Amino acid sequence: MGLFEGRGVLVTGAARGIGRAIAQAFAREGAFLALLDLRPEGRGVAEALGGFFVQGDLADERDRVRFVEEAERALGRIDVLVNNAAISAPGSALTVGLGEWRKVLEVNLTAPMHLSALAARRMMRVGGGAIVNVASVQGLFAEQENAAYNASKGGLVNLTRSLALDLAPLNIRVNAVAPGAIATEAVLEAIALSEDPERTRRDWEDLHALRRLGRPEEVAEAVLFLASEKASFITGAILPVDGGMTASFMMAGRPV
Ligand code: NAD
Repeated sequence: MGLFEGRGVLVTGAARGIGRAIAQAFAREGAFLALLDLRPEGRGVAEALGGFFVQGDLADERDRVRFVEEAERALGRIDVLVNNAAISAPGSALTVGLGEWRKVLEVNLTAPMHLSALAARRMMRVGGGAIVNVASVQGLFAEQENAAYNASKGGLVNLTRSLALDLAPLNIRVNAVAPGAIATEAVLEAIALSEDPERTRRDWEDLHALRRLGRPEEVAEAVLFLASEKASFITGAILPVDGGMTASFMMAGRPV
């Protein structure tokens, strides 16, 4: 029997990358899935997993409400929420536009807070649940020229702790993973478009003590663990899934 047999699990940003790997891992463990994404490809992912799909924009408050309401109707119950979707807008505070800044904060921080509140009210009806936020190593440390993303993920890290405290009386645990560089479509595209793709890939790999990029499935397994009963005494934790990147105050994998 799977770890999530008969449980209702919601995943945002599941059309590709880490979100799709998370959805696949929960499906393998017997969960009923509701997936949300802007991209229509999310429908195919949901169908392949016997899940329910809502095409919607997390920047739009009405789509967030619609997602949770329709998910509860389709699944019958909500036990787990994974806030995975995110965007970025490169630039420093000097160069990022205020509109872009607001959009990044809305999708990466406000949407997880709002969805958590909406889902928690439903989790109460089934006696509790679990929320897992997909943060980033950039929520723990900052990267140059990425002010909005850094701030949003830093906010998500401390939102995770806030939610853990506030939802504990409802028997809802809240944790986050902080991935290093993961070989998703988005990352592989960025590498391919760089001036010297081989060099860029090596440089990114060298940021990690394990000297390689992570796989989406490796993040998914950590999310699954935190959402499961195996983590029944863990709440408010931020788990790096970063091949040792944040074990060092320098770039971990760099040869001395
Ligand atoms: P991705 O861009 O491939 O996937 C994100 C998904 O979210 C996409 O399918 C996209 O359509 C969806 N999405 C974006 N904005 C949306 C919106 N407004 N409404 C609905 N859906 C929206 O990203 P990924 O690399 O798979 O990353 C997933 C998560 O992991 C993100 O939170 C990201 O910040 C985090 N993360 C990724 C890496 C990495 O190296 N890939 C590293 C650290 C953290």
